[in-house]
Amino acid sequence: MKAVQYRKVGRAPEVVEVPVPEPGPGQVLLKVTAAGLCHSDLAVMGWPEEQFPYPLPMTLGHEGVGAVAAVGSGVTEVAEGDEVAVYGPWGCGLCRKCAEGRENYCLDAAALGIMPPGLGSPGALAEYMLVDSPRHLVPLRGLDPVQAAPLTDAGLTPYHAVRKSLPKLVPGATAVVIGVGGLGHLAVQLLRVLTPVRVIALDVSKEKLELASTVGAHETLISDGEAAGRIRELTGGAGAEVVLDFVGAQATSDVAAAAVAVAGDVTIVGIGGGTVAVGFGGGLPFEVSASFPYWGSRVELVEVLELARQGLLSSHVETFSLDEAPSAYERLHAGGVNGRAVVLPQG
Ligand code: NAD
Ligand code: ZN
Repeated sequence: MKAVQYRKVGRAPEVVEVPVPEPGPGQVLLKVTAAGLCHSDLAVMGWPEEQFPYPLPMTLGHEGVGAVAAVGSGVTEVAEGDEVAVYGPWGCGLCRKCAEGRENYCLDAAALGIMPPGLGSPGALAEYMLVDSPRHLVPLRGLDPVQAAPLTDAGLTPYHAVRKSLPKLVPGATAVVIGVGGLGHLAVQLLRVLTPVRVIALDVSKEKLELASTVGAHETLISDGEAAGRIRELTGGAGAEVVLDFVGAQATSDVAAAAVAVAGDVTIVGIGGGTVAVGFGGGLPFEVSASFPYWGSRVELVEVLELARQGLLSSHVETFSLDEAPSAYERLHAGGVNGRAVVLPQG
């Protein structure tokens, strides 16, 4: 089968021929119908050799949807042909966090060598993929696979981030979304569906800001040195109760810190290395909470897919073949993808 692999640190991903994997005991083999390209893949492919954490070559893709092609011994929960989305942040299933349903914060995954598909384990950018347990599958129940694929990360991650801040997202409050890409365009919609707040979206690209308006942002601003001041003006000086930073560069974290209201939330989702200083003299207003969440829980994925099924959430996608995936990554790197790039491995 064809797979898109990152084979050597510093080299572009390649389309290669690899054997179709066979499901071992407890595993499920999926025929992949759609797989999303995430900016995190670009970040991973930018890490230096010394700190590269995953075995290579590695099949990319941590946003996967497919149909069950075969099951390993002992698997009775799903059957051939079932259409499912893959919950990516695999955990041990046994620790306290997993027991809470928060497998994304598994306490033992690292020690046990458990890694998400596309981020250490073979991922979804292939004709077939292995899933370690039916526990990691969420039934599509009629949802379009192309719509669903981005929701497994680009939808789930902002859903988790927004839910955490719901008590502050009350009538009259303002939320800021920095970076209206794959995650950000779904974050804007989630804020509109789940809360009554005013949404201000920031990006460096006019096309992305047009998408932000189309999907429900009340105000859009070019993300520059003036942006925090404009947010203060738009909020009568108070600032925004919640700032979600889907870039996470130092420049955007600085905007988040400068734009947040007293007792607000700064949530840095992007992995650009930006930080905010918490403590006296750090510059944040009193009682601001700052956090750096990772992905989301399985029940949150169930809920995100339900929102899409009800027509309340929709992925803006551009589709590519498996052969086109390397050039789609280049486009993503150049800022040329509006919404999410989704690869269709079956042609
Ligand atoms: P993307 O490339 O689709 O979108 C990024 C957007 O940010 C683009 O629209 C781009 O124009 C915009 N942008 C770039 N520089 C900007 C600036 N200075 N100010 C405002 N906007 C700017 O990326 P994505 O796939 O949506 O991922 C977003 C970030 O979230 C990445 O850093 C990714 O690695 C990270 N991520 C984190 C998690 C997590 O669990 N914490 C999960 C998935 C992705
Ligand atoms: Zn991702």
